[in-house]
Amino acid sequence: MSYLVFARKWRPQSFEEVLSQDHVTITLRNAIDMERIGHAYLLTGPRGVGKTTTARIFAKALNCEKGPTSKPCQQCDSCKSITTGNHMDVREIDGASNRGIDQIRDLRERARYATASGKYKIYIIDEVHMLTNEAFNALLKILEEPPDMVIFIFATTQPRKVPDTILSRCQRFDFRRIPVSDMSEYLKKEAASEGITLDSAALSLVCRASGGSLRDALSLMDQLVSFSGNDVKGEEVTKLLGLVETDLLYDITSGILAGNTSRAIDHVSGALAKGYSVDELLDALIVFLRNLLLVATGAQDSLIEVPDSESRLLVKLSENLPDIAVLNILRILSSASIEVKRSSLPRVTLETAVITASKLSRAFSIDELPPVADKVFEVCRQPEHGTPPQIEVAVTESDSSEDEKKPTPEEAAEKSGIIEDNVPAEDEDDSADDAEKEKETSRTILGLFDAV
Ligand SMILES: [Zn+2]
Repeated sequence: MSYLVFARKWRPQSFEEVLSQDHVTITLRNAIDMERIGHAYLLTGPRGVGKTTTARIFAKALNCEKGPTSKPCQQCDSCKSITTGNHMDVREIDGASNRGIDQIRDLRERARYATASGKYKIYIIDEVHMLTNEAFNALLKILEEPPDMVIFIFATTQPRKVPDTILSRCQRFDFRRIPVSDMSEYLKKEAASEGITLDSAALSLVCRASGGSLRDALSLMDQLVSFSGNDVKGEEVTKLLGLVETDLLYDITSGILAGNTSRAIDHVSGALAKGYSVDELLDALIVFLRNLLLVATGAQDSLIEVPDSESRLLVKLSENLPDIAVLNILRILSSASIEVKRSSLPRVTLETAVITASKLSRAFSIDELPPVADKVFEVCRQPEHGTPPQIEVAVTESDSSEDEKKPTPEEAAEKSGIIEDNVPAEDEDDSADDAEKEKETSRTILGLFDAV
């Protein structure tokens, strides 16, 4: 038996098998059962979500020898020939390559003849928005007075390009992107039936990369099985798709968050040495930080497409982490991603952004970051730093203390209280000096933003 790609092998053959488009399939089934069959249908939606498949099942339901029936038998000659694409009365036309008036005139001529099987003559026109204006006009003439037993099913990814005169003569059905949860369950089940196993990271990555298109997901599955055999792991999907490994993103981000510039830069160099481009790395970092921000703000529901392994790392990173710190890094790196595109030295732009982020991520919100503010002020109070405080002092301190256990929120609040208590005590000279120094430190740090 010849090799069949998954998209063809697993193509749904009945309405029940069409994934996540119940709002369409139930309506079509009811229309058939109630014998309310229209002359023209428009199926719209993103690519690879089941439009043409549904059109074929609809054709099968109408022309089944036991039909019209919402449950085509799949056994009769008519059902079988529609499945193989050889039915005399069911014609599929690609709108992109048959877009001229001649093709539509030819179609109009043929539509006049009686059906070969005595049932419906069905024209499925894919990518109908590609037709020329003249072709649409010719099509409109048929739709105005459709021959008996002729049914048109149009499919398009761009319904706005279809003239209103055509739209108003069609029953329109909008297909949706396949939700990750549905796709994931479907892929797992179908893969298992072929003896293929995917770990949860692989499954999440395939779903995420498909962008809600089942066809894209299945094509990717074909590639994956060729690449790694029947046991597919997350790392292999990462390699095949050229994705930046999550561990690398974690290392860079944790370096930045700890204010450990050298560590962050070393990991950036490591990633570039592995062959990732500056663009790829920066984009991946931004997505990773976006996810971290969601975890830090508690908006975890939007993390649905993130593999469990990544989710665990994000939760680990977000412990005691104020969301404002992540937001600040995200801002710096987002600006860099624009800058990188017009820079002749993109690597330098990336490195500068990472250094800036590691030095400033926590300084932005100095008032909202008691533990960090406390450290900065503590250094400034030391006698050897009697001169106006320098930012390097704070950063050096931060570097050396990267392994220190972060304070719990309670401890942080307590420290915050201590600082606040000190500030208003202006009757004591020392305190007033301290307060002045603190303000000076804040100004020095915040002044750096203008340079970002
Ligand atoms: Zn049949």
